[in-house]
Amino acid sequence: MISNDLNIWPSYLRLLENGELRCRVEALEALLERCTVCPRDCLNNRLRNEIAACYSGRLPIVSSYTAHFGEEPPLSGTRGAGNIFAILIAAQKGLRLPIVYNTNAFDSVEVLRLLDGIVDVYLPDLKYAEDEAGFLYSKVRSYALVSRAAIAEMYRQTGDQLVYSEDGLVKRGLVIRLLVLPNDIGGLRDSLRWIRDELSPRIAVSLMAQYYPTNVAGTNQRYVLLSRRISESEWLRAASALDEFGIKQGWMQEYDGAAFYYRPDFKDRETPFHDVRDFV
Ligand code: SF4
Repeated sequence: MISNDLNIWPSYLRLLENGELRCRVEALEALLERCTVCPRDCLNNRLRNEIAACYSGRLPIVSSYTAHFGEEPPLSGTRGAGNIFAILIAAQKGLRLPIVYNTNAFDSVEVLRLLDGIVDVYLPDLKYAEDEAGFLYSKVRSYALVSRAAIAEMYRQTGDQLVYSEDGLVKRGLVIRLLVLPNDIGGLRDSLRWIRDELSPRIAVSLMAQYYPTNVAGTNQRYVLLSRRISESEWLRAASALDEFGIKQGWMQEYDGAAFYYRPDFKDRETPFHDVRDFV
């Protein structure tokens, strides 16, 4: 069942009006007291700024702010996207933009249920099809199990259709990002098969070519399989897999230049993201 009502949009306005948005925010904030916000379940008290695996306390640390044009075109639009950390306050002060939840998909289903009716567009990265790869490269256990349960919950909330506004922006839906990794570390075909068979072949998929090794991924022999960009033939194989699995809706980056255009430079505090509107 799709729980959102398109007559009131963005959907958090309905929750704001009936008081439910405040209840949800309070319920989410309460999870910080013995933190179970993500499936690592660290149980630290983030309200008291006790730090655990994600190095986050009560409030986020913001390193820069800017209009961001690196999302898929119907999400960035012509004016870019931005981050919101205080949605109740923003909604009370007049926010009327859709909420896009961009995530690595290592999400708690309990948290996602609390976001039902708040988030308009889910944008998860499905990074690996195998738990072993998740543990070796992202240091999390059960990534495949957890991420698939999380995306299944997102699908339950949104269905498989993207709803567009009159100006061509996505108003509601689910877009699954698949970053092509060297040596097929992500298990792309397994992920596509799961999307087609367990969710729907009509789900929008965003295929990404921008992988670029940094830090230990480029230097530590333990991660040697991750230590290069993808080759053009790996990219073409990934693109043809979309056809093979009948995935028709979504976007693909350009292979040439993707690792440059989509890589932020946080030393440039004014404009860390390249303006990909130049990118054709
Ligand atoms: S990693 Fe962070 S968000 Fe996840 S449970 Fe631990 S403290 Fe909470």
